[in-house]
Amino acid sequence: MLNFQKYFGQNFLIDNNIINKIINIASGELSKENTIIEIGPGKGALTEKLTRFGNNLILIEADKNLYSQLSNNKIYQSPHIKIFNADAVNFDYSQLNLKLKNTIIVSNLPYSCASQILYKIVEISEFIKSCVFMVQKEMAERLIAKCTTKNYNGFTVFLQCFFQIKKMFDISPNCFNPKPKVISSVIKLTSYSDPLIKSEDREVFNHFIHCAFANKRKTLVNSLINNFSIDKSRLIPILNNMNISENARAEQLQLDEFLKLFYQLAKK
Ligand code: SAM
Repeated sequence: MLNFQKYFGQNFLIDNNIINKIINIASGELSKENTIIEIGPGKGALTEKLTRFGNNLILIEADKNLYSQLSNNKIYQSPHIKIFNADAVNFDYSQLNLKLKNTIIVSNLPYSCASQILYKIVEISEFIKSCVFMVQKEMAERLIAKCTTKNYNGFTVFLQCFFQIKKMFDISPNCFNPKPKVISSVIKLTSYSDPLIKSEDREVFNHFIHCAFANKRKTLVNSLINNFSIDKSRLIPILNNMNISENARAEQLQLDEFLKLFYQLAKK
């Protein structure tokens, strides 16, 4: 039989101090006209406090039983609150008619699908003002990693094109029931008013950046030649022009260098 707790990453927050700290960060981002989305409200540890702001509140919960409990709870029966029994990764956000840069997303992200949800968030980033997320500590370290450090990777670079990412604080397993085996961290993502990558280039850039980081032991030149199907004769002059060594590895390039290289390669 399927273990729902494991499958849905159900570690529920039980520490009031932590709940209040997360709510304070979210409320600092909030104005009256903003829509709040909570992904995975679970038993409502954060949700109940989010209702107090009186903003439009959208709850997306994948677990049928938890969805029923939320729907039957009087606190959440209000014209401002909509509850969906859905998977946040495959959810059709267009049905929400979100306004540009007007949405705050709050979530104690299920660890099992945190990266998929983060990719989804990029797809709707034009509607997002900011996000307050709880993730596994290792993931938080990857998301804020700087060039030349071991945690810096393609996912980091891609996400940092759309959001300024800040780690806020760590959370001990003791603050949850059941206790997870890992430490968690709260991060805040603030959406850029102009993302560094145009929406029409997003998919190709994501592919480009993952090709660049595909093999950490290879040079950037070899990784791009092998994985991104680019000619060496085209790549080398651009790198020379940018003062980037032909022997450089992907983790040595700053975000703005990746962007410049990508758009130079895109030129006919
Ligand atoms: N927010 C609650 C809290 O802080 O106590 C619950 C957090 S628990 C870590 C993750 C929640 O996300 C669970 O309620 C789980 O059922 C739900 N969930 C898991 N995968 C989901 C998905 N793909 N879409 C929406 N909700 C999901």
